[in-house]
Amino acid sequence: MRPRRKKTFDVALGSTNASPNERFRVAFDPMLLVRETAAHLYPKSQAIIFFSVDEGKNAYGATRMENGEAVITIDLLTPLGRVPEILAHEIAHAVVGIDKKHGNEWKKAFGAIHKEFDRRMHLLAKRHPLKRVKPACSGR
Ligand SMILES: [Zn+2]
Repeated sequence: MRPRRKKTFDVALGSTNASPNERFRVAFDPMLLVRETAAHLYPKSQAIIFFSVDEGKNAYGATRMENGEAVITIDLLTPLGRVPEILAHEIAHAVVGIDKKHGNEWKKAFGAIHKEFDRRMHLLAKRHPLKRVKPACSGR
């Protein structure tokens, strides 16, 4: 009998589940919202997610199986605005199985994650409207 595993999409390093008294909090984390959405829709699925350098596949994301576990890699050079979609794309592969490629099952899973993510985003935006803030410095 295999040990019970946590049915969530964990981020291997740099977890958003950092210490409760962290001093630099993320008020809205779109990657966490993707993970929460996928975990809600597919409670029996799981994957481990790495943010890493491109593994030579010239892709922003990749999913592979390793010892029966889905391993998702998101390239660190992925533009930040694309990461939620790439993550949802790869999680959909983890949910349906990488052998399904981009067939109907994958399209259905990706569409479901996307639709539920959008619904949750709109709810959050109503509760916490974003304000544009003039930066104190450009960071350069
Ligand atoms: Zn794909």
